[in-house]
Amino acid sequence: MDLLNTLVDKGLRRELPTREEALAVLATSDDDLLDVVAAAGKVRRHWFGRRVKLNYLVNLKSGLCPEDCSYCSQRLGSEAGILKYTWLKPDEASKAAAAGLAGGAKRVCLVASGRGPTDRDVDRVSDTIKAIKDQNEGVEVCACLGLLSDGQAERLREAGADAYNHNLNTSESTYGDITTTHTYADRVDTVQKAHAAGLSACSGLIAGMGETDEDLVDVVYSLRELDPDSVPVNFLIPFEGTPLAKEWNLTPQRCLRILAMVRFVCPDVEVRIAGGREVHLRTMQPLALNLANSIFLGDYLTSEGQAGKADLEMIADAGFEVEGADQITLPEHRAAGGGCGSHAAAGCGSAAQTGCGSEAEAGCGSHAGAGCGSHEGGGVCGTASAPAGTNEPRTDLVAVRRRGAGTDLAPNA
Ligand code: SF4
Repeated sequence: MDLLNTLVDKGLRRELPTREEALAVLATSDDDLLDVVAAAGKVRRHWFGRRVKLNYLVNLKSGLCPEDCSYCSQRLGSEAGILKYTWLKPDEASKAAAAGLAGGAKRVCLVASGRGPTDRDVDRVSDTIKAIKDQNEGVEVCACLGLLSDGQAERLREAGADAYNHNLNTSESTYGDITTTHTYADRVDTVQKAHAAGLSACSGLIAGMGETDEDLVDVVYSLRELDPDSVPVNFLIPFEGTPLAKEWNLTPQRCLRILAMVRFVCPDVEVRIAGGREVHLRTMQPLALNLANSIFLGDYLTSEGQAGKADLEMIADAGFEVEGADQITLPEHRAAGGGCGSHAAAGCGSAAQTGCGSEAEAGCGSHAGAGCGSHEGGGVCGTASAPAGTNEPRTDLVAVRRRGAGTDLAPNA
């Protein structure tokens, strides 16, 4: 397939594919799927070997958000029966983080629901970052607190944060259909603030919200332009009680094509499978490790993931290895120049990122996703497509989080 050979060559040179080539990846048929995974896998292994980075989410403040992100279980007016609690104390957050680190994670992603932090919030999160860093040598810490005001990124950096997550979520042209309480430009501004402060920027998307292939390609090209060190790819978990509860339009094959497209467009970036991994990829998760080099260990912000032990077994069975604390995540050129080169010593090699994004599960705009149906374009040149029909809702796979942070029950790690 000329298309795939061309995309591999470009991926190894970090050359940007054309939009037509990116759309063609999304249009490939199921017969071509393994060829697509094999091709994108060459690019993944060239930049990240067979390492899989484990990240661990700690939900510092759950629910109670004044924003109206339609995919989010924590949104204003959400009827999703999620945990609701205000700020965890630094020692509570540090205890939660320690479980994830003991489970093999090397990055802790501190997330709080809400439009954006007050300066008082930045103080309390700074205390939490210091507590975690003091108790866990070499740990990477990312913050995801929403829209940032001037000076806040610098203060988080001074407190020891390595990275900041804030996802773009979807294309600029459709952003207003998803959220009305803040804008796409607000989000771009926060990612740029993180960059400017020397934090490693992390910014990703949510697939499966009824967007078209063009929308998906749009947001991924915008992300490439913003140049984060990491791109979380969320697959919408359609929470009952949110406006997108009926949006069950992803298939495991569609998710794999989306991850492959992201890998080709952002070849040397940490591509993370974020929220919706278990719900939408299901038994195809191991195959997706050929495309993404990073996942979340344990639970998401408001929903439960598979057991941490199952993730470790899956990684080993698929022939991959958990990235060690002493290993640099990002390729040398990005680690050196990236968000926080100074973090090379800390193994984050530019302080990869998180993506913890609350969006991670359609949680906090920095936080979920699903794409939909592709179509047949014979061979590889298929035509771009609008979302295919709705698939069988798999609400049986969605478990609202009832353990870990904000509860008396041990976390999943
Ligand atoms: S994504 Fe974040 S800002 Fe949007 S409703 Fe959810 S918690 Fe609030």
